Amino acid sequence: MNTQKLPQVVIVGAGFGGLAAAQKLAKAPVHITLIDRKNYHLFQPLLYQVAIAGLVPSQIAYPVRAIFRHQKNLTFQMGEVTAVDFDSRYIKMNGSVIAYDYLILAVGGRTNFYNNKSVEHNGFQLKDIHSAVATRNHLLGMFEKASREADTAKRRALLTLVIVGGGPTGVETAGALAELIRHVLTKDYPHMDLRDVRVLLLEASDHLMGSYPNDLRQATFDLLSSKNVEILLNAKLTEYDGMRIRLGDGSQIETQTLLWTAGVRAAELADRLGVKQAASGQVLTEETLQLPGHPEVFVIGDAAKPVQGDNQPLPMLATVAQQQAKAAVVNLQRMLKGRKPTVFHYQDPGLLATVGRNAAVARIGGLSFSGFIAWLIWVVLHIFRIIGFRNRLVVMINWAWDYFFYDSQVRLITGE
Ligand SMILES: Cc1cc2nc3c(=O)[nH]c(=O)nc-3n(C[C@H](O)[C@H](O)[C@H](O)COP(=O)(O)OP(=O)(O)OC[C@H]3O[C@@H](n4cnc5c(N)ncnc54)[C@H](O)[C@@H]3O)c2cc1C
Repeated sequence: MNTQKLPQVVIVGAGFGGLAAAQKLAKAPVHITLIDRKNYHLFQPLLYQVAIAGLVPSQIAYPVRAIFRHQKNLTFQMGEVTAVDFDSRYIKMNGSVIAYDYLILAVGGRTNFYNNKSVEHNGFQLKDIHSAVATRNHLLGMFEKASREADTAKRRALLTLVIVGGGPTGVETAGALAELIRHVLTKDYPHMDLRDVRVLLLEASDHLMGSYPNDLRQATFDLLSSKNVEILLNAKLTEYDGMRIRLGDGSQIETQTLLWTAGVRAAELADRLGVKQAASGQVLTEETLQLPGHPEVFVIGDAAKPVQGDNQPLPMLATVAQQQAKAAVVNLQRMLKGRKPTVFHYQDPGLLATVGRNAAVARIGGLSFSGFIAWLIWVVLHIFRIIGFRNRLVVMINWAWDYFFYDSQVRLITGE
């Protein structure tokens, strides 16, 4: 087949949106060029498990080339897309250009520090493998330092671990970290008084889990508190110099560990496109997910903000990116047949977040529930959603081992 004669579809980003779009186009009469700056797809919902030494990176990432080994109409290229010329219809990457007939931008998001440079420079974040491994090394390093620190005040500061952001990522990380300390590190450091350890979760508003209904917010609060996580609501961080946090009310917290999970904004490329953006940098699209003035360009996932009929912004979730990918592909195929694209509607599949062992909160089919059943659903769903049979099996064995033996993945401090 002469792929040059087929319509050329370029997809930028092999995350949740880009992957779903490429897979949905598998049988379409098009040639796809899928581009990502990484050679793997990352399952971000389990990044926090890498940060707390629960999983190793290769268990939540999978090579893009292996995923598309059997898809004949797709070519993968690794590289960073630095610009798009919408009028001439090409993208710039690695010093060369790639022309397109249709373009799907699925470049995702990055951490939003809301211009707080002190946190950006001195805090940790969870966005990619590098940042998760750096967080793990730092957390374990704090315990090593504390184990040889004789001064009580200094030891307590080393063992004060602060997570900022009471959304699902902050809650999941705080719960898992508290359990790592209680079930595993107590065994690794038998001579250290782990009552000195504090896991604090700071949230600027007056409740956790802003996007969840009230009953589940309360359930999350109760479950986390029962796992010894100290929750500070209405706690607005103003500055962090690497040694102490300053809050809006003037109080201070001595700590060398701050993990920021309080915001997401669109990836860097969105800022370089010269198009209209929302406050968090997302590209404003039509209801059909097309770029205004450029119907052959679709923007999906964390990088996009479609104009909604009721103007309610959609959450930055994998499920949104995947549904938008499918809708964009349907519209692209309609255009190939000379038909008009249709409006995207998000079908909310529900909410689900874990708070630790045997504890999760869920809202499915209009019903709220929490505890063991919600946790079981979370475990099964996450194992099912990880890409690659080998990864699923390894994660399942790992979690079963940790569950029955109160253990965790080998707790290595690697790098500097
Ligand atoms: C720690 C964490 C926990 C999360 N937990 C959940 C959860 O429990 N449930 C849930 O539904 N969602 C969760 N999310 C959100 C979810 O991961 C995102 O909504 C989803 O990944 C968005 O998909 P996407 O395709 O838009 O972007 P991504 O999946 O982020 O993919 C974007 C891809 O584009 C690539 N890219 C970016 N810029 C360029 C460029 N210029 N050139 C080439 N490639 C580029 C990136 O390398 C990346 O592979 C979580 C996110 C994080 C960070």
